[in-house]
Amino acid sequence: MELLALAGDETQRRRWLEPLLAGEIRSAFAMTEPAVASSDPRGLETRIELTADTAVVSGRKWWVTGLADPRCAVMIVLGVSDADAAPYERHSMVLVPLDTPGVEVVRSLPVFGYHDQAGHGEVVFHDVAVPSTHLLGPRGQGFRLAQERLGPGRVHHCMRALGTAERALEIACRRALSRRAFGARLADHGVVADQIARCRLELDQARLLVLHTAWLLDTVGARAARSQVAAIKAVVPSVACTVVDRAIQIHGGAGVSDDTPLAAWYAALRTLRIADGPDEVHLRTVARAELRRHEHDA
Ligand SMILES: Cc1cc2nc3c(=O)[nH]c(=O)nc-3n(C[C@H](O)[C@H](O)[C@H](O)COP(=O)(O)OP(=O)(O)OC[C@H]3O[C@@H](n4cnc5c(N)ncnc54)[C@H](O)[C@@H]3O)c2cc1C
Repeated sequence: MELLALAGDETQRRRWLEPLLAGEIRSAFAMTEPAVASSDPRGLETRIELTADTAVVSGRKWWVTGLADPRCAVMIVLGVSDADAAPYERHSMVLVPLDTPGVEVVRSLPVFGYHDQAGHGEVVFHDVAVPSTHLLGPRGQGFRLAQERLGPGRVHHCMRALGTAERALEIACRRALSRRAFGARLADHGVVADQIARCRLELDQARLLVLHTAWLLDTVGARAARSQVAAIKAVVPSVACTVVDRAIQIHGGAGVSDDTPLAAWYAALRTLRIADGPDEVHLRTVARAELRRHEHDA
């Protein structure tokens, strides 16, 4: 939705953004490819042949979130349109309706055995031709647009992760207060109290970092806040995973069963350390920004 709002022309917005906003359809974003390390988009192999009339897409994508949702009507596909251009000006984005001939949805990928968000799809584009008016944003600017979309998207991810971790801590506290072992409530064992305190401290630190980043996005924009967006994406999923992991431990066997939502939450949060870029790539962004500040001193 953000990409259509950001880069869509009048016709594209009317056709896709309005029904998306009304909740009538949903969209999916197809960038990652099974054959190449997609955290470095310079290696992407999917091709978009652009002519005056058409855009022809060929390649294979996977981890396309939302693709298996019956309401999914359109994909935004990132591919190489200008192979000889500068590395970050080689990609364009096109809107590909799911019912276009040549679109083959191969399978829905589970996460640790769970099917979440109606499934993350793998899809092959067999010379899929759409009108050239389906080009989203300027030719060669796909990578830049993808970066702009990911800024606010990462804040959303982090906000949801924090909410999930808060719920896990709440459940853990209730369990610790209501269950007894070795003559005392779990909550009265120092080790358990220590774990609960650490959850609270780490969650509050992470939340303040996210609030600061959201404020920067509003005040200075996605590009200037790039390092902070990377920082929250490197910090929050890890913190949330650790909180849920402690909640699982406090629950004992019940924590890894389906009787509580903790196991499913752990699976979903663990994927967030990879989805939308792995931790290492975000840490690299933070390190580069930090080092740049000191370059002139060295
Ligand atoms: C649940 C889920 C949902 C997703 N949804 C979408 C979606 O909707 N659309 C989409 O296009 N993609 C989606 N993805 C894909 C996701 O964005 C990619 O998996 C991610 O960017 C990593 O790419 P890759 O899997 O090719 O890993 P690779 O690029 O092969 O990286 C593998 C590992 O190498 C290491 N690594 C990589 N770069 C560096 C570095 N610079 N320094 C040190 N170590 C490094 C990291 O440990 C990394 O985890 C989703 C993934 C998951 C799990």
